[in-house]
Amino acid sequence: MSMTWHVLGAGSLGTLWATRLARAGVPVRLIVRDEQRLQAYRAAGGLTLVEHGEAKLYEIPGETSDSDEPINRLLVACKAYDAVQAVARLAPRLAPGAELILLQNGLGSQDAVAAQVPQARCISASSTEGAFRDGDWRVVFAGHGYTWLGDAGHPVAPIWLEDLTAAGIPHEWTTDILTRLWRKLALNCAINPLTVLHDCRNGGLQQHHCEVATLCAELTELLERCGQPAAAEHLQQEVERVIQATAANYSSMYQDVANQRRTEISYLLGHVCRVAARHQLNLPHLNQLEARLTAHLHSLGLPSD
Ligand code: NAP
Repeated sequence: MSMTWHVLGAGSLGTLWATRLARAGVPVRLIVRDEQRLQAYRAAGGLTLVEHGEAKLYEIPGETSDSDEPINRLLVACKAYDAVQAVARLAPRLAPGAELILLQNGLGSQDAVAAQVPQARCISASSTEGAFRDGDWRVVFAGHGYTWLGDAGHPVAPIWLEDLTAAGIPHEWTTDILTRLWRKLALNCAINPLTVLHDCRNGGLQQHHCEVATLCAELTELLERCGQPAAAEHLQQEVERVIQATAANYSSMYQDVANQRRTEISYLLGHVCRVAARHQLNLPHLNQLEARLTAHLHSLGLPSD
């Protein structure tokens, strides 16, 4: 019998993981924000996953952070800006040898979470799977993809990867998770903020080739300076390939802004600019992009942290 997976956050990715694990017979418990959300969750009867147009309800037991059952395995599936606070509330419940899987996009939140729970093993994930909420407790599986998992401080793969195999969650263990996270972060910085500022789909950036190329050059410089040369390789080519391959899509940051939702800017472009400053690297175009994006978010009443 597998150990219980506690899933923190019943949003898009949390639901995508919780429902597939539960479907495979792996014990799962869902941790929701507070008592009020728990009542609402119980009234809904479970989580619904919509896959290939078909909706299926999974009756996964729910609880709040205040429950007292020990936690051995925790999937942290909230946004990057919520992760530290959410994990801090659960720290007293972590059993010796507990493992956390951090699904947050960007960089910065993983280290901040790990610093809070030194007794636990923190594993970072980088996922290309896509999902969105089309109602409370209801998620649509929008894009099949892959999840890379790794622990920068400890190369040995955990035993529970077999639960992911049983659940049909496509994944791979990697010893260079930081390279993957940095590469994804660089792609994000070269594409997402510009789609917001130019108010366009990803493909619209084909009209802003020079601006994209300038950002890629600065991002390459930064990656090389902070010991991530593999993440810098042929960055511009890949950015151009992604822009072409996803031309019809709106970036995640574009969608957040269009829906008046808080963005994860502080863990994306904000993180990049902070790391550059720490290395005393002058990257004027990235800094200017951050300033423009911050001003734009503020003009819409959205936070920039
Ligand atoms: P999401 O749909 O907004 O879900 C986040 C969930 O976390 C919400 O249900 C929220 O609760 C919950 N939450 C926040 N604080 C909490 C707390 N203290 N206790 C319990 N629950 C808490 O976010 P998402 O799209 O799944 O994204 C999660 C992370 O994965 C992000 O970093 C994102 O960039 C990354 N990611 C997402 C995708 C995707 O396709 N969605 C793909 C790749 C990576 P409420 O419901 O109460 O607000």
